[in-house]
Amino acid sequence: MPIYEFRCKGCGNRFEKLCPLGETGAGLKCPECGKQAPERVMSAFQTRGIAGGTGSCGSCSSKNCGSCGH
Ligand SMILES: [Zn+2]
Repeated sequence: MPIYEFRCKGCGNRFEKLCPLGETGAGLKCPECGKQAPERVMSAFQTRGIAGGTGSCGSCSSKNCGSCGH
């Protein structure tokens, strides 16, 4: 199963979750605030792949782009 990244529409929390292919997030809840239907983000590991797999997004110093928002 792929790992999808989601962003809560309520608190802005971003989190990753193993989901069945095609998961939209409609049935999920934010682990922070419990708000339903987080927005699916396109996508942490795709961005990393384009960047050459370094894990750096170029616009911040984070080594984990899942936590920096890029
Ligand atoms: Zn939330």
